[in-house]
Amino acid sequence: MTLHVGIDDTDSRRGMCTTYVLAMIIDELKKKLNLQPIDFPKLVRLNPTCPYKTRGNAAVAVELDVGGERLEEVKETVKDVMVRFAELEDPDTDPGAVFYVGGTIPRELANFSNKAVKEMVSLEEALNLAKKHNVEVLKFKKGRGIIGALAAVSNEFPYGVTYELIAYRSPKYRGKPREIDIESVFKMDLKTKGCTFDNLDPKSGEVKITPHTPCPVLFGIRALRPDCLEKALSIVKVREPIERYLIFKTNQATDAHIMVTSLSEVKPFTNVAVKGRITSTPVIIRGGHVFVNISDGKTEFRLAAYEPTKSFRNAIRSLIPGDEVIAYGSYKPREGEPPTINLEKIHILKLVEKYVIKNPICPKCGKRMKSEGRNKGFQCPRCKYRAKDLERVKEKLTRDIVEGIYEVPPRARRHLTKPIFHINRKT
Ligand code: ATP
Repeated sequence: MTLHVGIDDTDSRRGMCTTYVLAMIIDELKKKLNLQPIDFPKLVRLNPTCPYKTRGNAAVAVELDVGGERLEEVKETVKDVMVRFAELEDPDTDPGAVFYVGGTIPRELANFSNKAVKEMVSLEEALNLAKKHNVEVLKFKKGRGIIGALAAVSNEFPYGVTYELIAYRSPKYRGKPREIDIESVFKMDLKTKGCTFDNLDPKSGEVKITPHTPCPVLFGIRALRPDCLEKALSIVKVREPIERYLIFKTNQATDAHIMVTSLSEVKPFTNVAVKGRITSTPVIIRGGHVFVNISDGKTEFRLAAYEPTKSFRNAIRSLIPGDEVIAYGSYKPREGEPPTINLEKIHILKLVEKYVIKNPICPKCGKRMKSEGRNKGFQCPRCKYRAKDLERVKEKLTRDIVEGIYEVPPRARRHLTKPIFHINRKT
């Protein structure tokens, strides 16, 4: 029979990583019970706007083929590993695990998972559903991790799937700088192009596969298919041992978190795609953050492109009132601030024409005329021709942006955000 095991909320800002705890669970199940995962373990990114997340709001799950009599041993092993590795002493770490026996995931659970990726769900909702569908839960402290654990087990990747190979560090290296051979990452990127992605920031050349946190992750290589990942791993050179690695099936880079909705329907702590027209001139504030307003005629929101989004801000700065756009981003209410969507992508559907009002051109010599004062006509500064009956003229300006999709650079991109190259991909 198929046993689905999900876990979440085992890490803290000081260390650990839920994906590593799962890697240790898989290792123990192999060693102790000779059990192997049926498929790639799942790494499910949940609502990126969730205020409880430590970093990337990841939850994980694995499917195993287990004989009925071994079920208890599996649960004991999962529990033991969680006790050993979870950061239980951290006040904000509330681990949870779930165990579901069954070949197919009930629709109601799959819907719960989609909801947890897009918006907020409650622990009560998770516990009620678990009870209804005979999902066994294991709770540590407040057990908030049960939400993520249930969502990971129940996710069926309705928006597509990508893969990530995560290589882990030996304990004695954790917390030290990751000494990665940058040249080898460039080489890996080149040799696996079209299959791996987001290895480097194309503009800054910055290596993107290494995190900057004290966690056990050495690096992660993302791919559209799993078949190139081991080749990619063999090319990357690091000056420290790789303790282990695991390939995960993920919902990263699929836009699974986005709800297509209207501005008036945007709920706090959700991630949306909303259509509207620009209603203000962009403003740039100290720190380099750019803001502009959007409205659908009924509801107005502020759009924000923060400083870390670098050149993406140029697109937002170029918008003018009347432009029609679809804004992609998240809404996290902040006290004292107008409702603001933190942008991750913008689709400029229609640019309005931009005009300036200028003095007329001299009909005699072609030079731009000067005003003689209010309602007093114009005079040419070159040939001195005077005209009382001429009027100021409207001149069309070329816009410094074109219609299309603009995205934040890879270094500022959310795990779930679908990159433009991926949107445009044929297969
Ligand atoms: P990392 O990515 O480094 O593994 P994290 O960012 O995943 O860490 P967690 O420590 O797992 O953060 O904390 C997130 C907590 O929020 C978990 O308890 C999880 O169950 C809960 N959670 C996740 N998504 C939602 C949601 N949509 N609604 C309510 N709670 C959620």
